[in-house]
Amino acid sequence: MAHRVDEFTLIQRHFAPLSVGAPGSLALRDDAAWLRPEAGNDLVVSADAIVGDVHFPANTSAGDIARRALRVNLSDIAAKGARACAYTLALQLPDFVDDAWLSAFADGLAEDQDRFGIFLLGGDTTRTPGPLVLTINIFGQISENNMIMRSGASAGDDVYVTGSIGDATLGLALVRSELRAVDPSDTAFLEARFLRPDPRVDAGPALVGIASAAADVSDGLVADLGHICAASGVAADIDRDRVPHSDAAHRLVTDDQPLRIRLLTGGDDYEIVFTAPEAARDSISAIAANTGVPMTRIGRVTPQTADGPAVTVRDAAGGAIEVGHGGYRHFEEGDPRRE
Ligand code: ADP
Ligand code: MG
Repeated sequence: MAHRVDEFTLIQRHFAPLSVGAPGSLALRDDAAWLRPEAGNDLVVSADAIVGDVHFPANTSAGDIARRALRVNLSDIAAKGARACAYTLALQLPDFVDDAWLSAFADGLAEDQDRFGIFLLGGDTTRTPGPLVLTINIFGQISENNMIMRSGASAGDDVYVTGSIGDATLGLALVRSELRAVDPSDTAFLEARFLRPDPRVDAGPALVGIASAAADVSDGLVADLGHICAASGVAADIDRDRVPHSDAAHRLVTDDQPLRIRLLTGGDDYEIVFTAPEAARDSISAIAANTGVPMTRIGRVTPQTADGPAVTVRDAAGGAIEVGHGGYRHFEEGDPRRE
């Protein structure tokens, strides 16, 4: 890089301003930071790395990379019922990253810090010959022993999901020009759902004491519900026609069955899939109304069987739908949707 500043200057210029408001950050001038949870709270901790070309297309703007990295981490904390308060940032920077890029990146972080009420505590910065790697460790708080785990689901519980499912997988395909939407405003909506997911930071904490188990939808609805089932020693049935999809997703998918399946198996939604006993139905409706986040009942937890799948997706007639790899075939060579 032509005008590479030394690491100390880089950190003080771009990142120290993001630590203002967290006294324990020590303005990013010490070897470590301290973080003190409020009395009676547990710290909830999670980490997520995102890698250029793997988790986002190479042409993604620095601001979008920053926001996405924070939001996928915020989503993990929210799904556990906790409220995020601070994070650390480890950066492996390839050569193309210059001062202007870092400035746009830090602006993206600043915007979302304000939006979500979190502060930068510290981090690490190195140069790499490989792709950009960005690792965030995020810290949240929750009243003691209240973290919502994956392991609490029981047979008979209802299965719910927040928001709408499948927008991000369509958005990514649109960003990559693997799909094309008829309506440009649908394209903009779906791409934004991929690039700027909306972590359910209020809905998650509202589910404490109500949800028996929860996970955020990062790998895909079927896979993430499968994680809950594995941890809880149960199985689940979901009713395909109850799974909520956005109007834009409906318009794009129409009656294309493999693409419809992909909505259930594609990742990156950052919604929350959770289970709750039937007795909680009214409470959940009230939480949805209070938070403004739709919470749709999509199925039921069932007993685990010896060799059955963890998650069965059923059609209107109750038949099991094969969700294996069907969704991905659409994006292979020769597909008419490839433009
Ligand atoms: P050390 O060599 O002692 O590990 P560093 O020189 O890596 O320390 O970091 C100096 C300070 O700058 C530390 O407070 C560290 O947390 C902070 N820091 C380094 N990189 C980043 C970054 N990308 N984001 C935020 N803080 C950072
Ligand atoms: Mg040190």
